[in-house]
Amino acid sequence: MNVEYPPETVAFREEIRAFLRRELPADWAGLGALDEDAAREFTAWWRTRMASVGWLTPSWPREYGGAGLSRLQQVVLAEEFARAGVPVRGANDVFSVKMIGNLLLAHGTEEQKRRFLPRIVSGEDRWCQGFSEPDAGSDLAALRTRARLVDGEWVIEGQKIWTSDARTANWMFLLARTDPDAGKHAGISMLLVPMDQPGITVRPIHMITGGNNFNEVFFDGARTAEQNVVIGPGQGWTAAMALLGLERGDEAATNPIFFRAEVDRLIALAQERGLAGDELVRDRLARAVTRAEIMRYLGLRTLTGWLRGDAAGTDASISKLYWSEHHRETTDLAVSLLGADALVPTGRKPIRHYRTDDPDAPNSSASWVGTWLTAISGTIYAGTSEVQRNILAEAVLGLPKERRS
Ligand SMILES: Cc1cc2nc3c(=O)[nH]c(=O)nc-3n(C[C@H](O)[C@H](O)[C@H](O)COP(=O)(O)OP(=O)(O)OC[C@H]3O[C@@H](n4cnc5c(N)ncnc54)[C@H](O)[C@@H]3O)c2cc1C
Repeated sequence: MNVEYPPETVAFREEIRAFLRRELPADWAGLGALDEDAAREFTAWWRTRMASVGWLTPSWPREYGGAGLSRLQQVVLAEEFARAGVPVRGANDVFSVKMIGNLLLAHGTEEQKRRFLPRIVSGEDRWCQGFSEPDAGSDLAALRTRARLVDGEWVIEGQKIWTSDARTANWMFLLARTDPDAGKHAGISMLLVPMDQPGITVRPIHMITGGNNFNEVFFDGARTAEQNVVIGPGQGWTAAMALLGLERGDEAATNPIFFRAEVDRLIALAQERGLAGDELVRDRLARAVTRAEIMRYLGLRTLTGWLRGDAAGTDASISKLYWSEHHRETTDLAVSLLGADALVPTGRKPIRHYRTDDPDAPNSSASWVGTWLTAISGTIYAGTSEVQRNILAEAVLGLPKERRS
């Protein structure tokens, strides 16, 4: 594992810092220091600004709207953005850039890349992910949504659930069963489907956080062109698996920064509440600091492998399990420190539905309670903790394989 960055990164790091000094207001204290509306507005403006210089999609070739940066430069960029408290992406870009954009860049046809990638960068297209169904979550290959080819178009029938951002997205990448006679994994295809059409109905699901970006999506004869399939018909499982290893570099660099900043806010909260001298609280804080430090080393190990071009292996499962369980415990301590105040959350709420609140967010009860609820969901989406433990038990510890139905 390398714990030092190579010398060639120094000049690039300085270039980014100079850019940030030029672009950000002199009194910039991080996204969290802005109120909720201002933070949303800033995120939208920053996304457009980043897209204009290629830094929204730093590793993508220039012809598709990227900056053609090396992996190492991409990591340095993400790290400096995280330190400065500015977003690495826009509100919907986990789905648009990180997932489908990177997947098409790696596996799309030339026509798909030319058609979709520039529209992702410009923000004209916003994507959502249609994988989960009422009876297919962890056991994703049990999905029952079907698509069949009729006169050069896929015609889709079925239902998805827990679809984040489905009401603001205009495209969905979904998994559908296209060959009912093939084996459980073999008959699945990944289709690219426009959302604005009569065959699609989106119904919001209200979340415990007060947010409503969750949805059920119903397909009743929805259509998409025959060529809107990723890799090829029957290759949906391969495409879905390929999503898992994408862009692990920037998370490995930014997770330790965000989670350490959150632990520092937690320590400040204990001090503000006069609880920093309590032995049990000190013990739990020390564990939180230790976990954040372990996360930094896990990140460095992942980065070293990624920069070397090693296959993803089990890094993604280790990282997902580690940060999500850490986050649940850390925010649980915050809610304990708040005591009865957690029952009547006040102040600035988190504007994001994932991970930590923004750097420099105030220690408001609404920030911590919102983040605590979000942290619980972190142990569920993108592979639950139990499923990650199963993967690690089999792949790393060599324990006997789980019985499959
Ligand atoms: C905030 C959030 C956002 C999401 N966004 C999206 C989205 O945009 N698009 C999308 O398609 N999906 C999305 N999901 C859905 C998510 O992918 C599923 O919730 C997840 O895959 C788990 O599936 P499930 O909810 O059906 O639970 P289940 O799979 O039914 O699991 C229920 C419980 O059983 C456990 N379990 C299941 N199988 C095993 C096993 N083999 N061994 C041990 N324990 C097991 C699980 O760990 C869990 O505790 C989102 C979920 C959340 C929470």
